[in-house]
Amino acid sequence: MKTNLLTVLVPVYNEEECLHSLYDRLQKMMVRLPCEVELLFVNDGSTDRSLELVRFLQQRDTRISCVDLSRNFGKERALSAGIDYAQGDALVIIDADLQDPPELIPRMLEEIENGYDDVYACRSSRQGETWFKRWTSKVYYRWLHHLSDIPVQVDTGDFRMFSAKALRALRRLKESERNMKGLFSYIGMRKKAVYYDRDPRVAGATKWSFWKLFDLAIKGLTSFSVLPLRFVSFLGGIVSVAAFVFLLVVVCKAVFYGDPVAGYPSLMAVQLFLGGSILLALGVIGEYLGIVYNETKRRPVYYVNEYAPMQTAEDKDKGNM
Ligand code: UDP
Ligand code: MG
Repeated sequence: MKTNLLTVLVPVYNEEECLHSLYDRLQKMMVRLPCEVELLFVNDGSTDRSLELVRFLQQRDTRISCVDLSRNFGKERALSAGIDYAQGDALVIIDADLQDPPELIPRMLEEIENGYDDVYACRSSRQGETWFKRWTSKVYYRWLHHLSDIPVQVDTGDFRMFSAKALRALRRLKESERNMKGLFSYIGMRKKAVYYDRDPRVAGATKWSFWKLFDLAIKGLTSFSVLPLRFVSFLGGIVSVAAFVFLLVVVCKAVFYGDPVAGYPSLMAVQLFLGGSILLALGVIGEYLGIVYNETKRRPVYYVNEYAPMQTAEDKDKGNM
């Protein structure tokens, strides 16, 4: 299928140092593309000059659109906003920090035109990221893959391109707890991997703290798998059976041999173990309950301050009249 307009979606949160080099690299790449391009910046409540810079670029380049969110909603929701507002019949997501090479986009577009719906870039190496982050990310995605009912692509970031059909599918997902990577897998369709080396950030600092990543990881797990709940029920079952057997032993011992006040250590052990498993169970149930709570509120996923679309050919004609 021929793509007429490709939307390049860039979520932006305090990226003033990166935007100019990003724009330069994108521009160099865009001349190699066989189709028209919309450059869609989603400003996710930046507190620096990012929005001004986008507006400045927008005055010089009519291919730029800008969605300004009403506050910082986080990358997942910023991406949702971008997917909703994109005008293109294909869309590629790229980080503002140039960790994903824009030069890969023409190759991804080729795969879309070959009939694939979701072309994802697979990192074959990750420079400039700590050993700890690489390791946790690897372990987490392998586990998520095993636990959830749907296949999750391993070693994949958000650098991926979607066909018009995949975009329509993504727009129908309205849940407010969003783990985009999970949702991208959820829609299924024909997927294709393209391999590349991940570069370090060009400037600025990563916006993810350890706790933010932890939050994302828990949400990813709970929104795509009920296995943790099942695990807790299983644990509860085993503990109850073990406790019952132990009870029989204690009673028999007391009946046949008598029990002169000993037993304090075993009592404490049982107490602590049961207390621990109950807390664990409550915690897991709480996680799911929290998600149900958030979901029942049915709040909009994001709010938009202002949307400034790109100038289409018609707009330009009007301007000339
Ligand atoms: N980002 C965003 N909202 C946020 C955090 C990040 O839109 O709350 C954007 C950020 O501007 C960048 C992309 O998401 O374009 C990836 O962010 P970052 O490089 O900090 O993440 P990492 O590459 O370390 O996973
Ligand atoms: Mg980054």
